[in-house]
Amino acid sequence: MRNKIRAIALSALLLSTAANAAPPQGSGTAWDILADMTTEVGQRLAGSPREAAAREWGVARLKTLGFSNVHIEPFTITGFVRGAESAELTAPYPQKLHITALGYSAPTPKGGLTGELVYFPTLDALKAAPEGSLRGKIVFVDHAMRANQDGSGYGPYGSVRRQGPGIASAKGAAGIVIRSVGTDSNRDPHTGVTSWPDGVKPIPAGAVSAPDANLIARIAGTGKPMTIALVLESHAQPNLPSGNVVADLPGRDPSLPPILVACHLDSWDLGTGAIDDAAGCAIVTSAALRAQEGGKPLRTIRVLWAGSEELGGFGGEAYAKAHASEPHAVAMESDFGAGRVWRVRVNFAESNQALGERVKTVLSPLGIVAGGDLAHGGTDVEPVISAQKLAVVDLDQDGTRYFDLHHTPDDTLDKVDPAELEQNVAAWTAVLQVIANEPGPISGN
Ligand code: ZN
Ligand code: ZN
Repeated sequence: MRNKIRAIALSALLLSTAANAAPPQGSGTAWDILADMTTEVGQRLAGSPREAAAREWGVARLKTLGFSNVHIEPFTITGFVRGAESAELTAPYPQKLHITALGYSAPTPKGGLTGELVYFPTLDALKAAPEGSLRGKIVFVDHAMRANQDGSGYGPYGSVRRQGPGIASAKGAAGIVIRSVGTDSNRDPHTGVTSWPDGVKPIPAGAVSAPDANLIARIAGTGKPMTIALVLESHAQPNLPSGNVVADLPGRDPSLPPILVACHLDSWDLGTGAIDDAAGCAIVTSAALRAQEGGKPLRTIRVLWAGSEELGGFGGEAYAKAHASEPHAVAMESDFGAGRVWRVRVNFAESNQALGERVKTVLSPLGIVAGGDLAHGGTDVEPVISAQKLAVVDLDQDGTRYFDLHHTPDDTLDKVDPAELEQNVAAWTAVLQVIANEPGPISGN
């Protein structure tokens, strides 16, 4: 019996070895870049040794794929080092909660922080609390973010995370807990960065999972006083190394300003950063390569894998500064997961309206509609776009499920649909083949 089991196990092993032998090393397909980055590097928190490993990994892969001028542009950041984290409602009903610290949360004192938990249904309700009324208390801020295709809920509801902690601290709170900025009902908290206005003292700040936030809201509805015990030992740390990875596929006419395509290399540390934003790096890199098929384009296509996006867009700012004297033509970014592209938005100067129309026309057969407001790029390209008034093309992805996974332990490779990823590469390739072959001047509004 035992020998039979061993024989079955051995044949299964041989089969899986044979199946795994097929893919070539260092492939430039989007799936292989994504799978390899999430497998061989995994989480890549800005400023951490794993982000540094990701830069080295990126340089090696981009060289293997035939890019030239492959290099790291280093900079330093104030980073964020995650420590132990836990939370427990201690009254009126003892309940353990699933919590994670927000980026740049202050650490709780030794032994943790325990206090009265004061419920606010919205950020506006917190803003309306009288100055000093929260002294020594721990604030809870709720919100009602819902899933939608264009992800537009992240702007208003994301401010609970971005601004809530600073507002709570300014009113004297000792700590803050928020409902995770997300749209799932899993027991996974969503991390993400917060910021402290000048002169405002950082306090411990965490996000609980949606089911835990529902629990807190139900108890708040009864009017019974709540207390919470928090342990959030993460802390900010200055002078950590970060950097951008930059690489070119030179065009036929090197005197023409390049097309910049960007993603961010860093990720949050709870998952492996598959949808945020290894998928973006995979899409733009694979499309830049595929745009070479059938003949080298006129213009250079430059790939920017930006560092330290999650902690405040440091990579995009560093790139714009380092390349301020170097003209660019168009900038584009992929940083909204791996869902299919459903819409294109552009921002071309009046003199480039015909080029904008050609971009829309090549996307039409892929089922992509034109519409919406002007394209604006993403965090990693916005500084160079505004400094140089660059033209922009935004390929908007379906974000209906993006905020179920965003900044959670569930941001892993298995959540990506290979066919949707491939549709992204096809759309990006079509756009690059049009704009990288445009001989005349290109600029934005
Ligand atoms: Zn991102
Ligand atoms: Zn993110």
